[in-house]
Amino acid sequence: MSDMCRYRTLLKKALTGRGTICECSGVTCPDGAENSTCVTEPGGYCFVAVEMVIDERGEEVLERTAGCLPPDESGFMQCKSSQVPTINPKAIDCCMEPDLCNRRLEPRLPEEAWSEPDSPDVRSHAPNHPELLVGAALLLLLLTFAVALLVLLRRRRRAAKRPPSPAPLPAELSSGSGSGLPLLVQRTVAKQIQMVESIGKGRYGEVWLARWRGERVAVKVFFTTEEASWFREIEIYQTVLMRHENILGFIAADIKGTGSWTQMLLITDYYENGSLYDYLQTTVLDPHSLVSMAYSIASGLAHLHMDIFGTKGKPAIAHRDIKSKNILVKRNGQCAIADFGLAVRYVAERNEVDIAPNTRAGTRRYMAPEVLADRLDPGDFEAFKMADMYSLGLVLWEMCRRCAAGERAPVDAYAPPYHELVPPEPTFEDMRVAVVERGLRPPLPARWLQSAPRAALAAVVAECWHANPPVRLSAVRVKKTLARHLAAPAPAKLV
Ligand code: ADP
Ligand code: MG
Repeated sequence: MSDMCRYRTLLKKALTGRGTICECSGVTCPDGAENSTCVTEPGGYCFVAVEMVIDERGEEVLERTAGCLPPDESGFMQCKSSQVPTINPKAIDCCMEPDLCNRRLEPRLPEEAWSEPDSPDVRSHAPNHPELLVGAALLLLLLTFAVALLVLLRRRRRAAKRPPSPAPLPAELSSGSGSGLPLLVQRTVAKQIQMVESIGKGRYGEVWLARWRGERVAVKVFFTTEEASWFREIEIYQTVLMRHENILGFIAADIKGTGSWTQMLLITDYYENGSLYDYLQTTVLDPHSLVSMAYSIASGLAHLHMDIFGTKGKPAIAHRDIKSKNILVKRNGQCAIADFGLAVRYVAERNEVDIAPNTRAGTRRYMAPEVLADRLDPGDFEAFKMADMYSLGLVLWEMCRRCAAGERAPVDAYAPPYHELVPPEPTFEDMRVAVVERGLRPPLPARWLQSAPRAALAAVVAECWHANPPVRLSAVRVKKTLARHLAAPAPAKLV
């Protein structure tokens, strides 16, 4: 299968989590099929085949079958089998979208396969010399063949010049559950996007500011080697009830490309303040904005971690790469969590963690001690949430450093966690020795404890990065604690 084809299959799978519903008939229907329908595997085909067969009375009849074909090469080849000569005249047509698309397929047998019913008109004008008839038929056949060959050659030449169209997404009218636009619209969005400038580079892709219908959007273009992260991110954004004010707003996903290259795209809301990491380099926070910003991150994480029961419920999700570069700052100073390439979901019915099918590891500097010590049980979903809470503690610490308690109060320059304890590009071993063996954590200066909101946040930080995971606060607990400080009257100065 070509790259484009594979990406298309992946995209469809990520967006819908299922294949296409097709009409089926008789033996092509699976056992217990409902309403004569079957469902393809993601990326599979619906087909209709017509075949000229001889019935029990010895008469030629046209037999129609419909059903599902697999997404792989064998399905593809069967769709193309009309071009292969068969004993019985046969034709097949396939489609990939939308559901039940094969209801409108009408494969046509090659003209010569039809034995026209005798019509008196035609007969009266037919010449009486059989040799002439045979000659004319041969000539006609030759002509048809030459024309078909010409058309085929032309099509091929045109196809070689034309860039492939964007991936066909299932044309459902509503995305139903996921957080993006309806799937049909997602496809249109990608076509209408104009890239403006590159605004960020992560490990897994490049993020661009782009325009869509006059509005600014962010487009994350994944490196071709990072197909798994792209796939995972779409899957996570398509999760039921993902939309939340403190989670990056997902708009659409698509693929773009020509024959020789393919780009995997993720289109989201654009936040001009960039990441929290960028923001903290230049911005000093007053105590109130410090706590309200921290509250917004805890709200986003609490929503992510939460499972909502019911048929339209939301599975719990752990992020696994919480850090200031993966948190964005909105215009109103609130934050949104981004970059779900490494996230895992908890499948409650099966009591199972659906581990991301990629080998990507989190960011060393933010790895929890149990991750560094290789003691995290990947089958235990709670363990992933607790590791997120450790990383959140470090992010909150980065924010505390950039808080000025008063107009003329001193403020530290931005620093990443453990900046004094490990080299600038720490190895896994550097981190393991500092965090696990020596049990070190970034400093919490006494000065921070002098003003109420920052003192409260510092206490939260210490409880988040506890060496013993079950002792750490949960995201909901952090949210509730901070809410109390937001509701409190103007921050009391203790100095
Ligand atoms: P990666 O998976 O490559 O780490 P991210 O999604 O973390 O990609 O994005 C990389 C960087 O791009 C972020 O740290 C941030 O600076 C910038 N960025 C990402 N998304 C947006 C957005 N929606 N608006 C503004 N900047 C963004
Ligand atoms: Mg990132």
